[in-house]
Amino acid sequence: MKIEECIHYLYEKYKNDLSGRVSHSFPALAAVDPDLFSLSVVTADGKSFSVGDKESLFSIQSISKPFSYALALKQHGSEFVEEKVGMEPTGEDYDSIIKLDDLNRPFNPMVNSGAIVTTGLIGSGVKNTKKDELVGYFSDFAGRELDIDQEIYASERENGHKNWAIVHLLRHFNLMTKDFKDDLDLYFNQCSILVNTEDLAMMGATLANGGVNPKTGKSCIDPKNLRHVLSILLTCGMYNYSGEWVFDVGVPAKSGISGGIIMIIPGLMAISVYSPRLDKRGNSVRGIKVCEELSNIYNLHILDSAGPNSTKDIL
Ligand code: GLN
Repeated sequence: MKIEECIHYLYEKYKNDLSGRVSHSFPALAAVDPDLFSLSVVTADGKSFSVGDKESLFSIQSISKPFSYALALKQHGSEFVEEKVGMEPTGEDYDSIIKLDDLNRPFNPMVNSGAIVTTGLIGSGVKNTKKDELVGYFSDFAGRELDIDQEIYASERENGHKNWAIVHLLRHFNLMTKDFKDDLDLYFNQCSILVNTEDLAMMGATLANGGVNPKTGKSCIDPKNLRHVLSILLTCGMYNYSGEWVFDVGVPAKSGISGGIIMIIPGLMAISVYSPRLDKRGNSVRGIKVCEELSNIYNLHILDSAGPNSTKDIL
C-alpha cells in the first residue's frame, strides 16, 4: 500500500477511537475540540499528502523544542550549547522540577528545564529581535509565515506556574541570566506558534531532507547540527516514553501536549499526526497508534536490518 492510501486507511481505522483526555495544563489548551484528527506526510522531495482536519491550526507546544534547539546550535555552535544543556534522557516527566546532570546542566533540550535554557540562548545580538528570529526560523522550516496564538500564549503565561518555578530554580543555580523572565516569555511564545499537520510534516521533511526545505529549497540547518537534533529526537523526543518508542517505532520523533506528533524518516519523509486526546504520559493516543502502525507497515525502525520498504513501495 502506498503512503497516500495508507494514511486514509489509518484515518478510517482510528477515527472513532476517542480514548484519552485533552491536556488540562492551562485553560486555553483544555478548550480545544478533542475530536480533531489529521495526518500529513511530506516526502523529502516535497510531495505532500493529508487526510482529516488538515486545515485545523493548533499550538505547536513541545514540538517547538527541536527547532529552537536547532536555532541555538546555528547561532552559537554546538560546543557552546553543550556546555549549557546535556543530551541524556531523564526518564522523568517533561515538566519535572529540575534535576541536573553531573556537569550541572539540565539533562536535555526536550524537557522543559533544558528547553527553556536553550530558548534563553537564542538571539543573534541584534536588540529586540529574538521573537522575530525564532518565528522566522520556524517559518523557514514550514515554508510559510507562521503566527503566534495570542490566547494560548496569554493563558500559559498566566497559568504556567510550574514553568515559572523551573526558571526561578534555574536562576537560583545560575543557569539562567537576570533576563530569565524574558526568556520564559519567549519560550511561551515559541510553544504558542500555530501550525497544522501539513506545516509540521514540512518542518519534519526539512529535517528528513538533509536540512533543506523541500518546497522552498532553503537550507535551514547544517549537516552536523542536523545530526545532533535527530539524535536528541531519537533518544529524548517522546517524554518518558522515549525508550519504549525507540523499541517499538525506532525513528526520531517529537510529541507535544496539544496532541501533535512528528516522526522523521531521514532521506525519505516526515509524518505528522494531530489528535488532542492524550495518554497518561502526555502523548496523543491516536498519534502513537498511527505511528506504531506506520513503522510496522513500512519497516521504518532505523535498526531493522532489512531497512525500510523501497521508496517505490511507499511513494
Ligand atoms: N508549553 C508546554 C509546557 O511548557 C509544552 C509542554 C509539552 O508540549 N510537553 O509545559
